[in-house]
Amino acid sequence: MSSSTSHTYEFKAEIQQLLDILIHSVYTSKDVFIRELVSNSADALEKARFCQVQGQAVHSPDIPLEICIATRKEGDSHRLIVSDTGIGMTPDEVRENIGTIAHSGAAAFLERLRAGSSSPEASRDLNLIGKFGVGFYSVFMAAEKVVLTSRSADPSAPAVRWSSEGRGSYSLESFDEDIPRGTSIEVHLKKEEARFAEKDTVSGAIRKYSNFVPFPIRVDGEQVNKVSAIWREPPSQVKDDQYDAFFKFISHDVENPILRLHLSVDAPIQFSALLFVPRTNTEILGFGEGEVSIQLYAKRVLIDAENRELLPKYLRFVRGVVESEDLPLNISRQTLQENVLVMKIRDTLTKKLFALFQELADTKPAEYEELWRTFGRILKEGHADFAHRERLHGLLRFNSSIHEDEKALTGLKSYLERMKAEQKAVYYLSGPSRESLERDPRLEIFRKKGIEVLYLYDLADEFVLGGIGTFEEKPIVSADQAKPEDLRGGGEDDSAEDEKEKREKEKDEEKREKEAASRIDPLIRRFREILGDRVTAVRASRRLVDSPACLVSDDTRISSHMDKMLRLIHRDKELPRRALELNAEHPLIQSLNRIAAAGAADPFLEKACEQILEGALLVDGYLMDPHRLVERMNAILADAAALRAPPGGGSGPP
Ligand code: ADP
Repeated sequence: MSSSTSHTYEFKAEIQQLLDILIHSVYTSKDVFIRELVSNSADALEKARFCQVQGQAVHSPDIPLEICIATRKEGDSHRLIVSDTGIGMTPDEVRENIGTIAHSGAAAFLERLRAGSSSPEASRDLNLIGKFGVGFYSVFMAAEKVVLTSRSADPSAPAVRWSSEGRGSYSLESFDEDIPRGTSIEVHLKKEEARFAEKDTVSGAIRKYSNFVPFPIRVDGEQVNKVSAIWREPPSQVKDDQYDAFFKFISHDVENPILRLHLSVDAPIQFSALLFVPRTNTEILGFGEGEVSIQLYAKRVLIDAENRELLPKYLRFVRGVVESEDLPLNISRQTLQENVLVMKIRDTLTKKLFALFQELADTKPAEYEELWRTFGRILKEGHADFAHRERLHGLLRFNSSIHEDEKALTGLKSYLERMKAEQKAVYYLSGPSRESLERDPRLEIFRKKGIEVLYLYDLADEFVLGGIGTFEEKPIVSADQAKPEDLRGGGEDDSAEDEKEKREKEKDEEKREKEAASRIDPLIRRFREILGDRVTAVRASRRLVDSPACLVSDDTRISSHMDKMLRLIHRDKELPRRALELNAEHPLIQSLNRIAAAGAADPFLEKACEQILEGALLVDGYLMDPHRLVERMNAILADAAALRAPPGGGSGPP
């Protein structure tokens, strides 16, 4: 860029759209723009401090690290000037950071504003601007013109001036005047926002939002913040509202956190940590999958503003600060990744967080369930962390057949507590929704015997439960693979006297079932002929109560739901081969059996058999050819209608 020539550039389209929204915003807490400018200044100061402790040559090395805010009123003109002695920007950096290059956050933020524009939370959403990495632009809620002047810490870079009214374009010029390092933002206030040129208004905003900035902030010469690092203070000295305010400060969040962990460890490594679990999951705010992001300080210097190594990925929703006296200051991101101290801190923090979750689950189950609903999907990924996965098992939550609706949750421990002594396993079934699982014929026997079944709607749950195998020595079994003879449940009283009676009743029932099963032999044989190797077996069922038939998997490695999902993923169009079970007590099966027993190869039997198989597949979520299914159904209806209709060839009653 040549010196002292001014160029005009267009804003990137989505940035202009964002600016239009901000310029016309009637948002009532416009003071958040002060928070955003101060927070950018604080980041720039951290970076300058980092360069200095690393021994890099910086421009104006001796000026104090601080933020100075000035208010100016001259006639009709009202201005606010926010200056810092931070890292500054080169002319190219100004172009990249403020204006032309697409910020990935700009699009996501716009999306959110548009989606929520009619909701009462719309104004709250504007407050989130800093979270989306476009905080600087919030200044246009109050400004009619902004002039940014910057001098990079890089001693060879020229100074730069950027100016814009936020309408379509901005101008940029570099100049050779020797100004000190840092950035100064001159905000020409709109008339109706003149209050931001009042010292009290500005100081108030600083106390509200920026009290934890670790550098002095002066407003018209007077320092307004305290500059203290609360994670270094003993927990007994910090009040709840200080913690909450600090959380909001570091996370750009508007709500208080659900949980916090404040600890200080001296041996074998010295470190202190202040971590929080937020109330909302930003991954569903349109950010996509996030990364671990913890601020890491060494000896009071922020050495990594977004450290990825201090927690495992499945705890990426946790926010906070870690500081260690034992970490060297001149450590690079690369070496941080392999640093043993960092690994040890991570291990301690992971264990402490799990203990904290467990404590919440034990003492305040409803609050824990809230946490699970918000972050359970992420936390479950911890199943792949062999070092800590055991800690996760007691924290898993599922919907269950004992619940009234799909919102309620239970854990494995409470399942075991409810289970009758003779029940052999923990049962679950996966499916797309509670409604479909409640109608699943394979659960009929569980209902009849009063055995609880966990309902799994998320495929990840099946991986996790399948992977656990057993919980407190009870095997965990998918209900579609359970053997009916193993199903002994509660329902009734199990005092010793009743026990004998129950066994006898069970024996009777078994005998009756066997007889019924042998009675439908002709039908079973006929179905086997018709279906051939499209099924692995045809047999009388011991699990059906109300439905005529169902498909079950004899392969115990994989449940039918998992099988279906894998087929979807691999685009496998072939139908699964399963065993077809028939309910010998069902009137449909009994009538069909009589047709089969009569011997003749009745074509109706073939239609019925195909229909039963396809019906069972349909319930299981497979429907390959709806035309054939409907055609066949119509043919069957025609047969049934012909039987019911009064004799005669006319089109209606005479
Ligand atoms: P974010 O700060 O979340 O990245 P912003 O829109 O607020 O998003 O700022 C964009 C970028 O502009 C910052 O990342 C930073 O690189 C640069 N920037 C903004 N203000 C300053 C400042 N006072 N000093 C140095 N760089 C700044």
